[in-house]
Amino acid sequence: MKTIKKILLPTSTAGSLPKPSWLATPETLWSDWKLHGQELIEGKHDALRVALQEQVNSGLDIVSDGEQTRQHFVTTFIEYLTGVDFENRKVVKIRDRYDASVPTVVGPVSREKSVFVEDAKFLRQQTKQPIKWALPGPMTMIDTLYDDYYKSRETLAWEFAKILNQEAKELEAAGVDIIQFDEPAFNVFFDDVNEWGIASLERAIEGLKCETAVHICYGYGIKANTDWKKTLGSQWRQYEQILPKLKNSDIDIISLECHNSRVPVDLLELIRGKKVMVGVIDVATNTIETPEEVANTLREALKYVDADKLYPCTNCGMAPLSREVARGKLQALSAGTAIVRKELTN
Ligand SMILES: [Zn+2]
Repeated sequence: MKTIKKILLPTSTAGSLPKPSWLATPETLWSDWKLHGQELIEGKHDALRVALQEQVNSGLDIVSDGEQTRQHFVTTFIEYLTGVDFENRKVVKIRDRYDASVPTVVGPVSREKSVFVEDAKFLRQQTKQPIKWALPGPMTMIDTLYDDYYKSRETLAWEFAKILNQEAKELEAAGVDIIQFDEPAFNVFFDDVNEWGIASLERAIEGLKCETAVHICYGYGIKANTDWKKTLGSQWRQYEQILPKLKNSDIDIISLECHNSRVPVDLLELIRGKKVMVGVIDVATNTIETPEEVANTLREALKYVDADKLYPCTNCGMAPLSREVARGKLQALSAGTAIVRKELTN
């Protein structure tokens, strides 16, 4: 982390990047793998190298695997656990928004083997830059399952938090600098977030010495999400419900959606003093931001986030975009950040 501290406004993405067409169907979320067995393992690592190179070539400071190692940000993790039956599926409403066929919890959940640790070691070997690794958060995990065993959202979240903590400790040992938990469910179930959601996230990071982040967004640019956003009115004040408690949590960095969204930027004042990954790239449009647009969003955010705590980022993952658009957006992120860095140091 020493390297990160030296960089003013260190850039990164929220997570996913497009997959190459030989690995999965392009511009399609959660598409099936085109390879199997050993070929799939090698294919994922090759795609990881490409995604890393895209980030490095675009000048990003904190890099990731671009989520080339997973099909879905939640279910790929759950596939490695015992106690979950993937054959016995039920239809549930995800984040109170759209129906999805999900696996069923049928017994005690546990992690018999690590999930992403070998992939993280592989990424660590490829670069000396700081690396960030994303895991699903406990509340978003339970929202992507049907629970036929614990019959309590809170109890199941706590069990997942313990499992995530085991995985996170091994990722830290593998050399990961920032472990990020994706919690889009935090933007929906405010009472649960404040009652036990943040507490279970703190259980997931217990004992970690590396930096930790929580990513809370309005989702990929898929129809279910864009339709939902239309119902949220002219100001999206969801963050207002959860930021006060997150400010006092043990989580180091909070990753939020800001650019092109109706989130009032002054809500960032609620977490003044925390590190913030500020989303300055809209992932729900193919229009590539200009560097000046990125710089403007950063200038706005700087009114509420101290410069040494601001991490320019994307609003969410870029998996559904074309590689060309994603590349353009990465370059805009770097170029826009460079403008503001210059202003701050002159
Ligand atoms: Zn997101």
